[in-house]
Amino acid sequence: MIRENLNRLRQKVDEICKNCNRKSDEITIVAVSKNNPISAIEEVLKFGIINFGENKAQELRDKFEAKSEGLIWHFIGHLQTNKVKYAVKAAELIHSVDSQKVLDEINKRAASENKIQKILFEVNTSDESNKYGLKSFDELKLLAFAAEELPNVKALGLMTMAPYTDDKKIIRECFIQLRRWKDDLNSSGFQYSELSMGMTNDFDIAIEEGSTIIRIGTAIFGERDYSQKWNEQ
Ligand SMILES: *Cc1c(COP(=O)(O)O)cnc(C)c1O
Repeated sequence: MIRENLNRLRQKVDEICKNCNRKSDEITIVAVSKNNPISAIEEVLKFGIINFGENKAQELRDKFEAKSEGLIWHFIGHLQTNKVKYAVKAAELIHSVDSQKVLDEINKRAASENKIQKILFEVNTSDESNKYGLKSFDELKLLAFAAEELPNVKALGLMTMAPYTDDKKIIRECFIQLRRWKDDLNSSGFQYSELSMGMTNDFDIAIEEGSTIIRIGTAIFGERDYSQKWNEQ
């Protein structure tokens, strides 16, 4: 099933890119493996996907302990200060920074791991439907400047989640906002290159609006089975 899913996904990404004059190799596919067992991750790896995303810090920690060779881990979920250490240890890129407190903790933990932690700032582009993420451009700009002062953090861009809705216009507006905010920061001297936006239901629109990283779970692994934990499957 995973082979067919990946073929279909890649075909679709190619097609969307062609229609909007982008190149498929500008798009990084992060396979969101939450709640899926290591065996499923191994299967996806066989087909050349090497980026994997998790949204729970402990699950990332445990999976990183089980599998850290030949793949790149991303942390995409909400981060609490006391769990930052797990994300910093395992993740090449943390997509979800949305407070000064978490930013400072990442810098501290990255220093003790002897690494420069790559991060994205999560923006709440959909107001009420998502309680996480930065809501104002001023807040974002403050954090972006703050990150420049931290030696063990490197901010590469922005991330957002569109609301779960059939209204494609609403989804598109969220992605357009994220791109504009990135462009506005870059006009103030930043050099952000990454836009992490697009999931199974909306990656087509995200790519059309400039996404560079799409986070895909269901379209790769199938529907998640929450009746069993990932390490019991
Ligand atoms: C689960 C999740 C995804 C992937 O969702 P699908 O709809 O299964 O593709 C992407 N981003 C985040 C932050 C997630 O938590």
